[in-house]
Amino acid sequence: MSTLLEIKNVSRVYQAGDETIMALAGVSLSIASGELVAIVGASGSGKTTLMNILGCLDQPSSGDYRVGGRSVAGLTANDLAALRREHFGFIFQRYHLLGTLNAADNVAMPAVYAGVGAGSRRERSTSLLRRLGLGDRLDHRPNQLSGGQQQRVSIARALMNGGRIILADEPTGALDNKSGETVLDVLKELYADGHTIIIVTHDMGVAGHADRIIEIRDGFILSDRRTRDHKTDGQAPGASHDGRVVALSAFGRRLVEAFPTAKRSRAADRARTFLTMLGILIGIAAVVGVVGIGEGTRQTILGQIGGFGASSLRISPGRGWGDERASSITTLVVSDADALAAQSYVDSVTPEVSRSAKIHLGRISVAATVIGVSQDYFRVYALKLLKGSFFSAETISKRRQEAVISDKTAATLFPQGESPLGRIFVIDQVPVVIVGVFARPSIFSNDSLQVLLPYTAVNGRLQDADSSLDALMVRVADSVDTRVAERAVVGLMTRRHGTKDFVVDNIDQMRKTMERTSQAMSLLISSVAVISLVVGGIGVMNIMLVSVTERTREIGLRMAVGARRSDIMLQFLIEAVTICIAGSILGVALALGIAGTLAGSEFPMIISVKAIVAACVVAFWIGLTFGFLPARNASRLNPVDALSRD
Ligand code: ADP
Ligand code: MG
Repeated sequence: MSTLLEIKNVSRVYQAGDETIMALAGVSLSIASGELVAIVGASGSGKTTLMNILGCLDQPSSGDYRVGGRSVAGLTANDLAALRREHFGFIFQRYHLLGTLNAADNVAMPAVYAGVGAGSRRERSTSLLRRLGLGDRLDHRPNQLSGGQQQRVSIARALMNGGRIILADEPTGALDNKSGETVLDVLKELYADGHTIIIVTHDMGVAGHADRIIEIRDGFILSDRRTRDHKTDGQAPGASHDGRVVALSAFGRRLVEAFPTAKRSRAADRARTFLTMLGILIGIAAVVGVVGIGEGTRQTILGQIGGFGASSLRISPGRGWGDERASSITTLVVSDADALAAQSYVDSVTPEVSRSAKIHLGRISVAATVIGVSQDYFRVYALKLLKGSFFSAETISKRRQEAVISDKTAATLFPQGESPLGRIFVIDQVPVVIVGVFARPSIFSNDSLQVLLPYTAVNGRLQDADSSLDALMVRVADSVDTRVAERAVVGLMTRRHGTKDFVVDNIDQMRKTMERTSQAMSLLISSVAVISLVVGGIGVMNIMLVSVTERTREIGLRMAVGARRSDIMLQFLIEAVTICIAGSILGVALALGIAGTLAGSEFPMIISVKAIVAACVVAFWIGLTFGFLPARNASRLNPVDALSRD
């Protein structure tokens, strides 16, 4: 007869307030493989305490306990979990089935932590339930089963990983006589099959089935007697899964298994989960949305000012911003352009006179913006020539009726794709020959058809020769700061005009100011976002802490059947992360919906893929950060305390 479990002089002391309770006081006993032992005693005598120690759910305060010759003192939580998983099967008075799982899944649960695949799990749990007469109850939830049936499900669960040693604490305590008899018959069958069975009971009738009865009172062993001879060593069935599972794939399975578990426990309380998500949802939607509006506005404004050269100054008539009488100021003239061109801080300068006009070519007749410019216009705006040539100085001085048109104008006038070069169109009865085509920068905000003519031709053939200019556009020399150039321009022009009857727009400064503003905005928004996401994260942490408290018994049970601390930790972390990511996906969807309704409006919302990915990454980290504390609390629970919680 080989000794399987051996306890030597074990005590277990509980500290309840100022009181120390000696639940076990120096107990020694050994149990051989294949025995059917009953531990009897009055309520409070220490039976459950003894059984928890035997099952490695609890550790003795002093004394030595060996399982198969191996001392359990000094084993880590994970070693103990492995021991429970591989050797023990527990049956509790109150069954401890998980209400969210059906019978088959309840039975299969321990195998998850042994890393067994879903297919083999289902197969084994089904065959165990059939063997226990519950073949037609596989998909029933615990609350759809009678007490006796639930206890048989829990016996099947104890056998799932082998259950070489079955520990049953008052297995018939909550059952009527008949169901109790059935359960005892099953246990006796298992005994006949070679399982080692330890039954804790206060009922001598139940104990009578055993071949050894250990009676305890007040933490002492009162008697230990054999009622029958112990049969020969049992075959001691070990874990009965086909082959050992490779560690890595087993971990993968446990990981994969944690997802449906997390989903089920969340699904059980949809309303609360959704409310928790709401914080994250609103936070993410706000951030993604506001960043999108910022980006949209930025691009609109950049498009508007981006049409002007990078370091250029635009001089237009008027005594200030929005001067209503600006059009009556006629002092901006071509000689101003010549004077500016002579300055060392000026790279190039072009006058601009623009008007809208109808242009005719054959049967095509379209509205276009006609801009009178000098030969330097192309350099000031850094335009790209597609076909033909730009104007020469001679074109300007000789007032040639030549035009350089934008690519879009070319496409409109020549829909068949003929070459526009050398073709003649008519503006206000004035014939003009096309000499070149330029690429209109895509950032030009206004998408009218553009036709460039020598300013001398516009002022002279289309309108009075001495008409004043609409604007002077100055490209500042590369080595000069635009603010310095701006001051010099203002000085020069004021001297020439005798008064400041013009405004200078520093495009470079406008862009910089805009960029600074949008940066400041982003910073402000980001800080609001961080606050709202932290609040959302705290919400998640709160619900997870509540959830851990509510599910303490479930956690205890999972640990009893062999879940590692990492399994429990993973389960709760995945739950928290899932809530956050689901919230962020809904938040992004909300933002996209709002962006859809704003599309084409004055404030377009541009949501980049980058922003969406960032939202999900942030949500992941919020879940991990705020889920960590609850998950760690769960994983640090002591299985006995967790199981005894109600
Ligand atoms: P039984 O299972 O025989 O009814 P227990 O092993 O549950 O007895 O309890 C033995 C003694 O230890 C009892 O006096 C009980 O009050 C005490 N006890 C059990 N668990 C705890 C605990 N967690 N904290 C304090 N005292 C406990
Ligand atoms: Mg008890």
